[in-house]
Amino acid sequence: MRSDRRIVVLGAGYTGMFGAIRLARRTRKLGVRITMVNPSSRFVERLRLHQIAAGQRLAEHRIPDLLAGTGVGFVKGAATAIDPRGRVVEIDGGAARLDYDTLVYALGSSPDTGTVAGADLHAFTLDSPRGAARFAARLAEVDEAGGSVTVCGGGLTGIEAAAEIAESHPGLEVTLISLDEPATMMGGEARAYLMRALERLGVTVRAGARVVKVLPGAVELEGGELAGSDACLWTAGVRVSPLAAEAGIAVDERGLILVDATLRSISHPEVHAIGDAAAIRMPWGRIHGTCQSGLPTAQYTADAVARLLRGKPVEPFRFGYFHQPVSLGRRDAVVQFTHADDTPARLRLTGRAAVVYKELVSGSPLLTYRLSRRMHVTTVVSRGGRALHQAAL
Ligand SMILES: Cc1cc2nc3c(=O)[nH]c(=O)nc-3n(C[C@H](O)[C@H](O)[C@H](O)COP(=O)(O)OP(=O)(O)OC[C@H]3O[C@@H](n4cnc5c(N)ncnc54)[C@H](O)[C@@H]3O)c2cc1C
Repeated sequence: MRSDRRIVVLGAGYTGMFGAIRLARRTRKLGVRITMVNPSSRFVERLRLHQIAAGQRLAEHRIPDLLAGTGVGFVKGAATAIDPRGRVVEIDGGAARLDYDTLVYALGSSPDTGTVAGADLHAFTLDSPRGAARFAARLAEVDEAGGSVTVCGGGLTGIEAAAEIAESHPGLEVTLISLDEPATMMGGEARAYLMRALERLGVTVRAGARVVKVLPGAVELEGGELAGSDACLWTAGVRVSPLAAEAGIAVDERGLILVDATLRSISHPEVHAIGDAAAIRMPWGRIHGTCQSGLPTAQYTADAVARLLRGKPVEPFRFGYFHQPVSLGRRDAVVQFTHADDTPARLRLTGRAAVVYKELVSGSPLLTYRLSRRMHVTTVVSRGGRALHQAAL
């Protein structure tokens, strides 16, 4: 069976890359044309951006190299508009246009600096290798002057970043500011281990504090207190590209594409949404943006698109969480194993074993891409329930 369908994959992050490579393999006898679009030709390992912030040098991976031999075409550029009626994506403000029959939307998310005054001007973010490197350079200056750093946001990204900074700059005063207690999603023992590790590294944790403004040399907390901050890293929340909403594709209140149980847009079924950009509801709740959930959405969608091209039925997406691996600098880590709904199970790993485990997890996407060029590799560990159709708001 041959097909001349054009498939465009928007975004070459963790999910878009896996989706494109797997789809190419799944459809290699069908003659489809797959084109991937991404603003830079460097593949960004977001899971490791806090390592760049701490001054480490990471290996660079180029998207054309990762795609070599798959037949997937690469267009370096940003998608700036989608016309779902004409099925066209505009690149770089109209410099190029790509027609599609099927669109895989994998634009991910980025740090949300729009929620607090001054954050976009004065805070650093882990949005890209360049942004992380700028923060690393500032940290080196602040370290030399004997200053202070605040990490705003007590989620896993903030915790990993604070630990990494404190370990690599022991002379710096590092404060983690969080509205909630950090790592509340973990079980008591894993959480206690994590808090002890932060204390050992010299990180001051200020839980229950709300940052209301980021200033050049301080952050202002609710109530008016100024916390000294020669460099502020903003990790409190993410936002998604407005592209889908602007195109009239049905989205939720955060701009994530509303999908049915097969991860197709409820308003435009030729659009498949994966990763952080998709609003996916399971019987146990919403999937939150992680690589752990994103790779299975990419795997599922590649298989689903291939089946649809062959005129075969598609079963609903199934997914359950499995673990919460958290690095605590380069020499320590904690892994909380979980139930499908991401609540903590009894099992956990700490110390060296957790470091090795976390490193395997962080390196697994690139290994998966390389192997997927030659064979079908699964990223699904837990199949904890079927996705539900999302109603329009
Ligand atoms: C510091 C840090 C640590 C993290 N640690 C973990 C962890 O330990 N475990 C975990 O599971 N998750 C972790 N995450 C979350 C994880 O990185 C994301 O859930 C994951 O990257 C989502 O994959 P994605 O493909 O949806 O998006 P991304 O990986 O963000 O990829 C999106 C891609 O789309 C591209 N793009 C954006 N706009 C456009 C456009 N207009 N046109 C074309 N391309 C565009 C981007 O350049 C990017 O390449 C971490 C995140 C950060 C920032």
